Parts: sequence; C-alpha cells; structure tokens
Amino acid sequence: MNKDKLAELQRQLRLAGLKSTKPRYIILESLLNFPRNHFSSDDIHGIIPGANPHIGIATVYRTLSLFEQMGIISKLDFGDGVYRYELKRPDENHHHHHLICKHCGSISEVEEDLLDALEDQILRKYDFVVNDHELKFFGLCKNCK
Ligand SMILES: [Zn+2]
Ligand SMILES: [Zn+2]
Ligand SMILES: [Zn+2]
Repeated sequence: MNKDKLAELQRQLRLAGLKSTKPRYIILESLLNFPRNHFSSDDIHGIIPGANPHIGIATVYRTLSLFEQMGIISKLDFGDGVYRYELKRPDENHHHHHLICKHCGSISEVEEDLLDALEDQILRKYDFVVNDHELKFFGLCKNCK
C-alpha cells in the first residue's frame, strides 16, 4: 500500500475544497490496494475492508463520480452495461488499451501504443490532428480460447 500516493490524493481532495471524509478515504485506499484492476461500483463496495456498514452502495457510487470529476479515476465502458473504474496513472502520458474476454469477462491491459502510424496516416490523408484515442479489443483470453 502506497502511503505517499494516498497522502497525495488527500491533498488533491483538500485542494478541490473537499473534506477527506472516512468513506472517501476508505474508497481511495481500496482502489490503491488494487492499482491494476478495473472495478465496477459493486466490486469496490465488495472490497471495502470489514464490510463497513457506513459505506453503502449509493455512497460508493457518489464517491466514484466525484473522483471521476476530479480526474483521479477514469470511467471505462467495456460494452456490458456496467461502468468500471481505474486509477489514473500520472506517469502514463498515453492511456493504455484494454483486452476484454467475451467469455470470462477478464480485462487485461496493453501497454504499447500501436496507433502511431495510423495517426500519422489520418493527419496526412484527412488533415486531422489526433490528440487522443481509445481502443478496446474484444475476443477470447488465453484461458478461454
Ligand atoms: Zn477469458
Ligand atoms: Zn486499464
Ligand atoms: Zn493508444
């Protein structure tokens, strides 16, 4: 568990004029404990330590939208009707791509950016400057194929 990171996120909350309430703190801590995961609000509710009775699903949901507005987390849509969330990584200038298994629902990440050449082509052919993109691959993971 990264204490510095937690302190930094609390600082961001204060800067935004928000109190670092216990539910906010616990939800941040839970996200930081699983930095590579893609959690739904139900998943996050499920990993809150000791099934804290003060943090209901509605609080989790509200806290997640707040964190999203503040740019602490990204909201992801993998096309199954459930939004998932992941912590933004400040050291990541290119948002990674995702591989979504249609059979078991596992989500993994692709670190490489495979689209540089395509963006060049778009610039040349359509005179359009791309500054971001989003890419999801749907298929079967190595356990399901
Ligand atoms: Zn699978
Ligand atoms: Zn991801
Ligand atoms: Zn990319």
